[in-house]
Amino acid sequence: MKAAHAMDVDVEAELGRVGIAANKGDFANEDLYTTVDQAVDFINKTRADALAIAIGSAHGYYVETPHLAMKRLQEINKAIDTPLVLHGGTGIPEDQLKQSFKLGSTSSTWPPNILPCSTRRLKISNRSKRKRIIFSACGIIRKK
Ligand SMILES: [Zn+2]
Repeated sequence: MKAAHAMDVDVEAELGRVGIAANKGDFANEDLYTTVDQAVDFINKTRADALAIAIGSAHGYYVETPHLAMKRLQEINKAIDTPLVLHGGTGIPEDQLKQSFKLGSTSSTWPPNILPCSTRRLKISNRSKRKRIIFSACGIIRKK
């Protein structure tokens, strides 16, 4: 982290088990989701610039429709100032993606047919120079 920040590079971390969407047990098991305490502890220790959390999404193509833990997302968003990222956006129903953006996700990986995240929803870190990672993530979304 120190090396990246010394070179003015932002770091996005992933905390909890954001597993493989082909394995239902990876995204449907709430015991594997990121907890509020884990997120607070991790950010306090690492000062990561953005944080992907496990709330019921997974990487790849889902074997069945995922159901995001919106309450957990909201709780983590309230507890830390770090922008949150939702990995495994492909295959999450659009209403859930939109709800996740309302509750705290600032960007997602490769969500199809979703409106780009709007800057007014972005939760920018207190460290003011650390905004680029969010905007670059939005740029990826817009290209899709
Ligand atoms: Zn990931």
